[in-house]
Amino acid sequence: MPGGYTGKILRVNLTTKAISKLDTEKYMDFAGGHGMGSAVFFDLVGAQLPFPAFDPKNLVIIMASPFAGTFMPGSGRSEVQGLGPGLYPIEWFAHSNFGGRFTAQLKFAGWDGIVVEGASDKPVYINVMDDKVKIEDANGVWGKNTWEAQLEISKRVMPNNFKMSEWAELASNCFTTQIPAVVTCGPVGEAKSRLGCLLSGPGSQAALCGFGGVFGSKKLKAISVIGTGHAEIADAKAMMDARLWFRQFQWDVDNPRDANVFEGMGYSLISGRPKGGNVANRLPSRAAACASCPRGCKERTQDGSTNEAVCAGTMAGGNDVMHRWGAGHWQVMATQGYMQRLMSQGIIGKGKEYDPGDLPAQGGGGMFGGGGASGNAYWEALYKKLATEDSKFAALVNEAAARMTQIVGRPNDINNGTVRLTYWGTQEHYSTPVEVEWGYGSLFGERDLMLHQMANYPLHWMAQVNPQYLTAEKASDLYRQAMVPYDDDRFLVDYGDSVETGTYSLSKIKLVAWTKHYEKFWHGMGFCGWRWPQCITNNTEDRKGATPNAEIKFWNAVTGKKLSFADCMEIGHKIYTLDRSIWVLQGRTKKLETFPDYIFNQGEGQGHVLPMYLNGKWVYDGGRGRKLDREKFEDFKTRFYKFEGYNPENGFPTAKTLADMKMPKVADALKKKDLLG
Ligand code: SF4
Repeated sequence: MPGGYTGKILRVNLTTKAISKLDTEKYMDFAGGHGMGSAVFFDLVGAQLPFPAFDPKNLVIIMASPFAGTFMPGSGRSEVQGLGPGLYPIEWFAHSNFGGRFTAQLKFAGWDGIVVEGASDKPVYINVMDDKVKIEDANGVWGKNTWEAQLEISKRVMPNNFKMSEWAELASNCFTTQIPAVVTCGPVGEAKSRLGCLLSGPGSQAALCGFGGVFGSKKLKAISVIGTGHAEIADAKAMMDARLWFRQFQWDVDNPRDANVFEGMGYSLISGRPKGGNVANRLPSRAAACASCPRGCKERTQDGSTNEAVCAGTMAGGNDVMHRWGAGHWQVMATQGYMQRLMSQGIIGKGKEYDPGDLPAQGGGGMFGGGGASGNAYWEALYKKLATEDSKFAALVNEAAARMTQIVGRPNDINNGTVRLTYWGTQEHYSTPVEVEWGYGSLFGERDLMLHQMANYPLHWMAQVNPQYLTAEKASDLYRQAMVPYDDDRFLVDYGDSVETGTYSLSKIKLVAWTKHYEKFWHGMGFCGWRWPQCITNNTEDRKGATPNAEIKFWNAVTGKKLSFADCMEIGHKIYTLDRSIWVLQGRTKKLETFPDYIFNQGEGQGHVLPMYLNGKWVYDGGRGRKLDREKFEDFKTRFYKFEGYNPENGFPTAKTLADMKMPKVADALKKKDLLG
C-alpha cells in the first residue's frame, strides 16, 4: 500500500455479528476519507436505494484518511457517512465529522475506516483494539450520558490494572500509554431522535444530520478504538520539510506578526491564534486541540460550561448539557426556535395536544438564551423528556424542526421563512444571495456546507474588522491565485451582482464547483473547516495563504504519489459526481433542488459584507437588500449542471461523464432505474 493507508477497512454487521474487512485497495480511485466512504456506501447498498435512514440496511461509515495520525496540520477529523435522518424532505446520503483523537487511534489500530451495517437486537458497543474487534454487551452503558459512557467503556476495555498515563499491555508485548478514543451517542440518540449527534471526548461533535439517531436505531451505543501501531509516511523527509515550511502560515506564539493588530478581539476567530474558536465564552480557559492540529482552537473553560466545543455550539445555552445528552447543536438551535414559536402560538403548551409538562424557565445568557445555571436546568429537563418520555410533545420535538412543520399542519412554515431551514432541513447560515458558494454549495449538496474557512471567516469577518489587513482588490486576487485550476478567472470571488461577473455568472459557477470539489477531496480528508482552505492569512508578510501548495506537499509526502493539486480537485469532482448519483437514486430532481420561497421573496436587510466589483472598482460591500431571482437562479442551475457534466434538464450525471470518470457500475445503477442523465 502507498503511505497513509493501512490497507483494510473494518466491516461489522450488528445483525449477523459477522466481523470482516474490506480491502482499501479496491477503493483507491476515491483517494480516502469521504471519497472512499461514498464508494463503500455505493458498493454495499447503492442498488437497494431508496430506503429510510432508520432501516437496518443503512450504514454508518467512519473514515480516517491518509493524513490521520500524521502531523499534517488541521487534519484530525473523522468523517461520518450514511443516510442522515435529520435531513428533509429526503434523508439524503450525508456526512458529518468530529475532531478529537478518534481518527488517529483508528489508523494506529490498523484501519482506514469502519463500516457498521445491520442492527443489533440488544444494546452493544464495538471494541477495537488493534486487529482484535469485539461486539460487546452495552448493558450498564446504554442509558448513560456521553461522558459517563466514554469513561465506563474506557474502564471496561483497558486491562484490569490500567492506570492513567502509565504503560498498559493491550496484548502480549504490545504496550501503550494512550486511552481509547470513544465515539458515542447519548440518550437522545438512543431514543432515535433526529436531533441526535455523535460525541467524542468532552465536546467534539458530529453535530449535523442526526447520526446519533442512527446509532440508536442500530442499538449501537459507541465505538471504542485504541491502537499501538503508527501511520506510514512514504517520504518522511518530504513530510518534515513540509511541516517546517508550513510554520510560516501559523501564528507564531513567541513572535506573532503584527501582534498589536491581530491579538485584538476582532481577529480572535480568524488570526489562527490558539484558542478563539469558542465564540461566546470569554472566561479564563486554556487551549485544547484535535490530533495533529497546532491551532488548538478548542478551549477548556474555567467554569466547564463549553468544554472543547467551537463556534455555534458555544453560542447556545447549556452547551455541555447538550453534549452529555448527545444532541446536535445545529438541529437544536432551529428546533428550539420553532418550538418557542409554536408555544407562543398556543400549539405547544400546558393542556394542549403537545404538552411539555413542567419545564423550568429557560433563563438568560448565551446568544440564543438558556445559558447559566437556570438555563442548564431547562435544558436538562428538556433533553430528559426527549430521551425518556413517551409523550406527543417528546415525539414531536424528536422529529426536529422541518418535520415538525408537517406534523402540526403548518407545511408552509419553511417556505414562508417562519423557520429558516434553507438547505435540506438545515438552518440558514449566512446570506444565500450574497455568499453564494455557501448557499448554492449547500443546496447542491445535502446539508449546510459549514466550510467557514472558505470565504466566510477570512473574507467576510476580516472585512468587518478594523483595520482590514487586505483591500478587497488584493484579497480577491489572492483568492484567485489559490483557486487552481480556475485561477485564470479574476472574478471568482466577486460577490457583486453584475451580469458578467456576479451572482449568476460563469465565475460563480466555477466558484461553486471549486468549493464542492475541494469539499469532497480535501475537506473529506479529515480537514477542519476552521483551518482549510487557507487562501489568505495574516501570518505571512505577503498575506498569501498555504492553499494550494500545502495540501499537495503533504499529500505527496504522506502517500508518495505524485499528483498535482488540479489532479486532486478532479478526483474531488468524481467524488461529488458519485455523491450526486446516490442522491439521484434517492429521489433528487432538478425541481426539488431549490431554496424555500422566502429566499426569493425577502431581501437581505443589512446584506453580508464581502469583496465586490462594483462600478469598475473592488470594494467591500454588503449587497444590502439583495434577493435571489428565481428565473436567473434556475438558469444558473442549468448551466452549473452542464459545467459539471450532468444533464442540464434534470441534473442527473450523464453516461459520458460517468464513463470518463470510470464509474461504470454507477452508470448501470442509474440506467436500471431510468435515471441516467
Ligand atoms: S482548528 Fe480547532 S476544531 Fe479544527 S482541527 Fe484544529 S483544534 Fe480541531
